[in-house]
Amino acid sequence: MSEGVGSRVAIVGGGPVGALNASFFALRGYHVDLYEARGDIRLAKHVRGRSINLALSHRGRQALASVGLEEKVIRHGVPMHARMIHSLSGKKMSIPYGKKDQYLLSVDRALLNKELLTAVEGLPKVKLHFNHKLQDSDMPNGTLLLNRPDGLPIEAHCDLLVGCDGAFSSVRRQLMRYATVDFSQTFIKHNYLELNIPPTSSGEFAMEPNFLHIWPRNTFMMIALPNMDHSFTCTLFMPFMEFEKITTNEQVLDLFQKFFPDSIPLIGIDALKKQFFRIPAQALMMIKCSQYHASETMVLMGDAAHAMVPFYGQGMNAGFEDCLVFDELMEKFHNNFARVLPEYSVLRVPDGQAISDLAMYNYIEMRAHVNSPWFHFRRFMDNVLHRIMPNTFIPLYTMVTFTRIRYHEAVKRWKKQKKTMNWFFFVFLTILPVSGAVLLCRKIPGQPHSIVPRLCGLSTKLPL
Ligand code: FAD
Repeated sequence: MSEGVGSRVAIVGGGPVGALNASFFALRGYHVDLYEARGDIRLAKHVRGRSINLALSHRGRQALASVGLEEKVIRHGVPMHARMIHSLSGKKMSIPYGKKDQYLLSVDRALLNKELLTAVEGLPKVKLHFNHKLQDSDMPNGTLLLNRPDGLPIEAHCDLLVGCDGAFSSVRRQLMRYATVDFSQTFIKHNYLELNIPPTSSGEFAMEPNFLHIWPRNTFMMIALPNMDHSFTCTLFMPFMEFEKITTNEQVLDLFQKFFPDSIPLIGIDALKKQFFRIPAQALMMIKCSQYHASETMVLMGDAAHAMVPFYGQGMNAGFEDCLVFDELMEKFHNNFARVLPEYSVLRVPDGQAISDLAMYNYIEMRAHVNSPWFHFRRFMDNVLHRIMPNTFIPLYTMVTFTRIRYHEAVKRWKKQKKTMNWFFFVFLTILPVSGAVLLCRKIPGQPHSIVPRLCGLSTKLPL
């Protein structure tokens, strides 16, 4: 199987990325131990945590497909073909994501995780250890130290330690003892809060279901994604200073009457007041690392490597793609960790950093640019050019969401395309009108006067 290495893989973190990763390793024949600090999500009645639903797109689906899980997961998804922009006046306008067959899937986070855990549990040589929290590791010797549910520490052994333990990764902390990694953690000034739009009294969706609804208000915004039970999960993103100012029910209502009036009857006044103060608004952060591995024994994937703000809907998709890229490298280098791990860092670090930056950029696009006619014109032109030259000109959103073009290459291509577009606009808006005017004013050889007055139907001879 592997060249010069053993065959026991320990994955820390049973979130979506860890659970999917376990399938990749198990299908390659490794002994897999998955350690998750929390209890088994499949037994939990209420799952409290981050967002309830997630937008799954091409990269994530490709990773799921390669371990045979795409169909199982997408049945928990509601397709979203376009954004639905809610203006302050209550007017709505849709902006498609791409071509007809290009859409995002709004999937239930808990159901997705449950499917992935159940699938991997059925594979040979896989053991899931819930309520096992990684405390320490000594990877040069292949030893892990974990806390069991009864609080007692236990020792475990592995040849490869894979950190899929999220933004506050403990594996990452330990990896940084063995590798020279530049690391940054940035909290943005905006927090988020989730609210719910229930189904109507007849059990229908209260708004158009196959859309990602956006209320862009320039410096902040609210979005809503559909759920399988015909409800919507709304997420309000706002500066934390503004959240802190809102302490009474009246202030909540004021905020919604001023900025999101059409959502009040959908959420319900009482529910709105209750839900707004249910839990404090949550922070949003970005993690960047200059390397995702240490020697041939430790590697990071998902949020542990590159947590990002959620505005491109790519955090989990990028994490799933990490697993797929790693698996492709395992194939290429015949399961030789010593070659796979460094190459994985070389490939994924620029992509992780590119998508983190794009995610931040997209926040401004979602909350502000979509209000501008210029944005709509540019998007229209993007689509026209994409239709004329489908392989040469691809809109950024399409490259990121509906292809596997590497994230950093997508950024490069986008910048180039933008330059070409700007040049195109310059020609059309400046040079052409000016040269047209010059042409019109020019004297035609053999004609005594410029053609302008004639075109305007005027006599060229001044009345005497
Ligand atoms: P996590 O989901 O954080 O899972 C890590 C797991 O590790 C947890 O279960 C944790 O209990 C466990 N763990 C932690 N420490 C230890 C330890 N010491 N020992 C053992 N276990 C441990 N992404 C998208 O692709 N599309 C979206 O639409 C989208 N929307 C989002 C909306 C919001 C509001 C937010 C906040 C994020 C969104 N994301 C989205 C990002 C997505 O949630 C994350 O990228 C994804 O959850 C990362 O998965 P993960 O498995 O790497 O980490």
